[in-house]
Amino acid sequence: MVVVIICALLAVGAIGFTLVVRERDIPPAPVENPELKHQETRRQVLLENLKDLQFEYHQGKLSDSDYQSLKSGFLYELAAVMDSIERLQAKDNEAELKKKAKPKAKPVVSGGEIKCPSCGSSNPASNRFCGQCGKALS
Ligand SMILES: [Zn+2]
Repeated sequence: MVVVIICALLAVGAIGFTLVVRERDIPPAPVENPELKHQETRRQVLLENLKDLQFEYHQGKLSDSDYQSLKSGFLYELAAVMDSIERLQAKDNEAELKKKAKPKAKPVVSGGEIKCPSCGSSNPASNRFCGQCGKALS
């Protein structure tokens, strides 16, 4: 009778633990990068596998050593997946920053005027050289 109660408690604990882990691991923002999406899917699959593994272990279908070696295998893969997810996200952020910080290299043409890329003063669009500093306008 005591054994049954302990088994029941373990099962409830395992399910509770899995639910907590899964809720915390849901990605906060939609993922657009296809490679990132692929890694997120792999992570979900690995988490599912870990859940199944724990379930089978608590049901007594797996020996201690089988459980430990399978679990460490999954955790090792999971760590690798998390690592590439982090790297991909860092790369995305970097690309985003570069996009925003792109300097305006070309002279700005507006209303028949051309802005000197060197000193910034306005010149008629027909000018090939800046009237202010003499630098070439294009
Ligand atoms: Zn100039």
